[in-house]
Amino acid sequence: MQSASGPAWWVVAQSPCRQPAREREVGADRAIALRQRGEEAKARLAAIVEFSEDAIVSKDLTGVITSWNRSAERLFGYTAQEAIGQPITLIIPADRRWEEQRILDAIRQGQTVEHFETVRQRKDGTLLEISVTISPIRNERGTIIGASKIARDVTERRQLEAAQRALEQAREEFLAAAAHDLKTPLTTIKGLAQLQQRRAAALTTPAGERLVGALRQIDTLVNDAVAQIDALLDVARLQTGQPLSLERTEVDLVPLARAQMARHQVMSTQHTLRLRTQADTLVGRWDRQRLERVLGNLLSNAIKYSPQGGPVTVTLRQEAPSSGRWAVLAVRDRGIGIPPAEVDRVFEPHYRASNVQGRIDGTGIGLAGTKQIVEQHGGTLTAVSRQGRETIFTVRLPILGEEELRDARD
Ligand code: ADP
Repeated sequence: MQSASGPAWWVVAQSPCRQPAREREVGADRAIALRQRGEEAKARLAAIVEFSEDAIVSKDLTGVITSWNRSAERLFGYTAQEAIGQPITLIIPADRRWEEQRILDAIRQGQTVEHFETVRQRKDGTLLEISVTISPIRNERGTIIGASKIARDVTERRQLEAAQRALEQAREEFLAAAAHDLKTPLTTIKGLAQLQQRRAAALTTPAGERLVGALRQIDTLVNDAVAQIDALLDVARLQTGQPLSLERTEVDLVPLARAQMARHQVMSTQHTLRLRTQADTLVGRWDRQRLERVLGNLLSNAIKYSPQGGPVTVTLRQEAPSSGRWAVLAVRDRGIGIPPAEVDRVFEPHYRASNVQGRIDGTGIGLAGTKQIVEQHGGTLTAVSRQGRETIFTVRLPILGEEELRDARD
């Protein structure tokens, strides 16, 4: 470590003494020992600073460089001899000079500036992104006499972050293009099926009726395939931490739940799906397709994880207005349940509870996506379970009040 006058934090306190000769001798011995220890500590500290992986630089309160270690030489390209005695603006690009005044003001007030990310300039003129921590240096009386800077090159980290962002964007674009290409023929099939359905409706023969039924089924299956593709896109967004763009319209949860239950009832003869509702209508501004997916996922899990069959009960109610305006939807099954220690973890992407692994197929992504949808609507999704007995998933969603409903309709 080279320095102009030795950094101030190495100063060892000394005070004059007025004692008898013998005491003075002992005192002098002690002072020598103290000074020796001080010198050793100084040397140790100097070695630590000198060989630190981080650039360590100190300056006085006028911004003049007073010390410069080896990493500073490597990072900024100036040798200690070239840098010491120069103003710190030596390494500050012209458009960042204003920062120096702010830093010096903070230092004079005794503040430490931590992990401040900025840009500095090397001797060869190239710019460098660094993270810097600046702290005041005090003399033995505690007076601030300068600042020490510890700087770390973050260019590589920034480059990595930028590369990662570019990769995520490319992935998103690829997925959007793939989804579009997959949906295009499906839209054509749907259009053709609807056209033929209208034509077949004119036929009043039994064969005509069968044709209408088959074409209606094609229409439903195409809708399912489109919904699956959209669900896959949401999963990709979830994995990259991107928010969903919700398409909110006024939706009534009661008929939506009825329709989803009817669709799921046909999937199993072992289960009885029951709807219990205390409300005739529960209206909110929600994304209909995504809400269908939320309920669809909870219902298909309730069926899948109660392999012995049994009742699956959906209850709908409006929570007391005193606690805000919430629609509460609960899906309860009498299946295998979730081990107590794992109840909170089932919402994590790819997490599958220990009692289903290797026994019941799945990807572990449905509940994470469901939670993301509910939370983006300003709601909550929770689970309670008794292993081997029952599981209840509860969704709470903000609903529109009377006034908001009136306003929305006017
Ligand atoms: P998947 O069903 O594809 O595994 P999910 O994300 O939908 O993925 O669910 C995550 C995990 O939560 C499941 O693997 C299972 O362990 C547990 N789980 C979800 N629903 C139920 C349920 N109704 N009963 C018991 N366990 C459930």
